[in-house]
Amino acid sequence: MPALFIGHGSPMNAIEDNAFSREWANLARHWPRPRAILCISAHWETRGIHVSAAAQPETIHDFHGFPKPLFDVRYPAPGSPALAQRVAELLGVAPGSHRVHLDPARGLDHGAWSVLRVIYPKADIPVVQFSLDSAQPGAWHYALGRRLAALRDEGVLIVGSGNIIHNLRLFSFHEREVPDWARRFHGLSRRLIENSDHAALSDYPALGGDARYAIPTPEHYLPLLYVLAAQRPGERPAFFNDVVISALSMTSFVIGAGAG
Ligand code: ZN
Repeated sequence: MPALFIGHGSPMNAIEDNAFSREWANLARHWPRPRAILCISAHWETRGIHVSAAAQPETIHDFHGFPKPLFDVRYPAPGSPALAQRVAELLGVAPGSHRVHLDPARGLDHGAWSVLRVIYPKADIPVVQFSLDSAQPGAWHYALGRRLAALRDEGVLIVGSGNIIHNLRLFSFHEREVPDWARRFHGLSRRLIENSDHAALSDYPALGGDARYAIPTPEHYLPLLYVLAAQRPGERPAFFNDVVISALSMTSFVIGAGAG
């Protein structure tokens, strides 16, 4: 299966027909049908590792101040307790095994459903979410991602959903001009992804002052590391929605989907 990093941006992309959501709608056309989806979303932060294990996860509307139609959205994809169990198994084996909490009540947050309802509108593929312990360093997340990468051979689509540059304090809908630091960090992060420099991307605090503006908090950046960790030698990332708006980048890419 391919693996996907998607810049999700505004929750409105879930219901708007725009340049971003049009790319999402076309993504899976030529992919094999996944047996299940494992989504690492910016919007589920925990201490320790949690995995959603509900058979029928509810749709969580984890945002404020958006129009009612967005709160009316339901994404009724089933869960997969079996995949949750498999994730625990992959992370629980020695050496360096991890304790994994299976959460029977956790639903799907908008980091997952806002993109999946556009990519797979029939909601007929089971979805499991994997939480982010954002207190842990990048290399820790990358190491987990290496273990989870085996799922690609088991028909599981790995989806990281965040934004590589995500600074809402400096973001403006009205002043869409891209600040210099964002332009520089966009170029740097794209080059590092193209060169498969995963060590540098995992140690993102060492990427300098621009990284501190781009990643003021780690939760929107960390899903990237899980997708990079799933990349195999020779696989090239295919970029799409590679634009920066103010202090937010929508840069997205897929690996292992055909030509790459
Ligand atoms: Zn978000």
